[in-house]
Amino acid sequence: MESVTLSALEHYAYCPRQCALIFLEQVWQENGHTMEGRIMHESAHDSSSRLRDGVKIVTDLELNSERLGLHGRADVVEFQRQGGIWRPYPVEYKKGRPKQGCDADKVQLCGQALCLEEMLNVSLTEGALFYGQTRRRLTVKFTEALRCRTEEVARAVHELLEQGRTPPPEQKNGCGACSLKELCLPELASLRAADYVQQLCGENE
Ligand code: SF4
Repeated sequence: MESVTLSALEHYAYCPRQCALIFLEQVWQENGHTMEGRIMHESAHDSSSRLRDGVKIVTDLELNSERLGLHGRADVVEFQRQGGIWRPYPVEYKKGRPKQGCDADKVQLCGQALCLEEMLNVSLTEGALFYGQTRRRLTVKFTEALRCRTEEVARAVHELLEQGRTPPPEQKNGCGACSLKELCLPELASLRAADYVQQLCGENE
């Protein structure tokens, strides 16, 4: 199985079309949101491993799962010594605030946890998402339901990339904040072709 990047899980969980546009059609549009996010990720990676209050902090850690065909990098993994072993605790940095009604960030974090479990032969109970806008950490429990959802998304991403077909646009709540909305044009999804032409002609009169 060919390995896919963990960030594809986040994009797919947000919107399968967004994932296809980025990973099949190599479409990307930097805007204010994505630029802030990129800067935040870069600043999370600007220091090397260090020890703070008995916690070993490792940044930009390479991750891999043979079982799920995933690879990527973790912004920060904190290692806490428990029962004689260093137990990993992944922390993913996000700009903005938690997205209501969308589990994409949690799915990406859980994907990191599944990689760490396989790489280090440990079991993780939780990790955290740090949001730049609220400057707060949100604890994420790696429940059975979240693990199943993450594995399901990983399988769906592999299928999408193997089939090579981009799903059509579909107007939904996430479209407003989507970095690809100018290219995707989800508002056309509900229009018939004839209505679209009519609209264009009307605008040009
Ligand atoms: S604009 Fe909407 S349908 Fe299009 S890629 Fe973004 S979220 Fe998906």
